[in-house]
Amino acid sequence: MEILTCAACAHPLTAPLHLIAEAPDRPGYDGTKGPDGKRRPPATLPRGCYAIDPEPSGAPMVPYEGDDDSYPGAYPGGPAQLGEDGDWLVAGGPRNSYVTHPDDVVELDFHPDFARLGGCCGPAGDLGVNRVCPGCGAEAATVFGDCVGPYETHFAPDAVRAVPAADVPQADLPDPDRTAPAAGPGTG
Ligand SMILES: [Zn+2]
Ligand SMILES: [Zn+2]
Repeated sequence: MEILTCAACAHPLTAPLHLIAEAPDRPGYDGTKGPDGKRRPPATLPRGCYAIDPEPSGAPMVPYEGDDDSYPGAYPGGPAQLGEDGDWLVAGGPRNSYVTHPDDVVELDFHPDFARLGGCCGPAGDLGVNRVCPGCGAEAATVFGDCVGPYETHFAPDAVRAVPAADVPQADLPDPDRTAPAAGPGTG
């Protein structure tokens, strides 16, 4: 078991997690509100584990260079996205991000650049890193939680370290039984 910790200040950022060889297939979204009242698909990863995503993740969005007929969408599980020049766009962010269930992450602070938090029903995740370390403010993670994409938290590989859980002070970790907070009024 490892805990992902901030590369800048060593603050623990996740619950103890075990690495799985490959993320499960993304479950897709049926358009209904989940048990928490949010419009988004179920989380891709089960609780308690993490995976390494070999594909580029998140911003910057870059022109797609493949055949139009095989355009995969702007990011895995995400929508088509057209750039200003009329090019299809795909994620050009870092490969090998660590992917977790969003509920296995400690409470991160919002990125001070609120423009990065945009989306339809939740953060789209394609506008740059959108969460920062609560210990030091370093850019830490990108939450994808919109109706048009997957429900995942991605940590850029250079933002965190995977540290044996036994070596991390356990005080600040998320409750393993935590579920997403109940929906408040007006959350769509
Ligand atoms: Zn929506
Ligand atoms: Zn930090």
